[in-house]
Amino acid sequence: MAEPGPVVAKSARGIAIVTAAVVLLDGLGKIWNLPNTILGLSLGVLTLPFGGRLGFGHNAVEFMECPLMDRFAPCGAITLGNVILYGRHAYGLAEHERVHTLQGQFIGPAYLPLNVIGMALSLLSWPVKRLRRPGCGPFHGRLNFMEGHPAKDGLYPGRRP
Ligand SMILES: [Zn+2]
Repeated sequence: MAEPGPVVAKSARGIAIVTAAVVLLDGLGKIWNLPNTILGLSLGVLTLPFGGRLGFGHNAVEFMECPLMDRFAPCGAITLGNVILYGRHAYGLAEHERVHTLQGQFIGPAYLPLNVIGMALSLLSWPVKRLRRPGCGPFHGRLNFMEGHPAKDGLYPGRRP
C-alpha cells in the first residue's frame, strides 16, 4: 500500500489539530460551566426519588419527567450548566436547551445573573393584559437577550407568546 502523499498527510494532521482544539475548548467550557452544572445536578438528583429519570444527551446530563417542573417552569425545561431538567412532555425542547448549555460553557458563572437580567427585562416589557396567559412568554419576550423570541424563530413550537 502506498504512503499517503504530503497533501493528504498535512490535511489529516490539520484535522487532528482542529479536533484536539475543539475537544480542549469544549472541556474547558464544561469546567468554566461547573458552578452552574453542580447546581443543576443538585436539583436533578432531588427529582429522582419522585419520578425523575436520568439520561445523557444534548451536551448535558438530562433529567426527564421532573416533578413540579410543569408548575414552576412554565416553559417546561430549565438548563443549569450542562444539566437539563425537563417537565412532562418537554423533551421536544432538547435542541433549544442544548444551546443554553453552550451559552453556559461560554459565559460560565455569568450565565445565571445574565438570565435573571434577561428575564427581568422581558417581564418589564410584557403587556400586563397578557400576563394571565399560561406559558413562558413573559420571560422569553423580545428583550430577553438570552432567548430567542418564541413566536419569531420557532424555538417553542406550538406555543404563542
Ligand atoms: Zn431558552
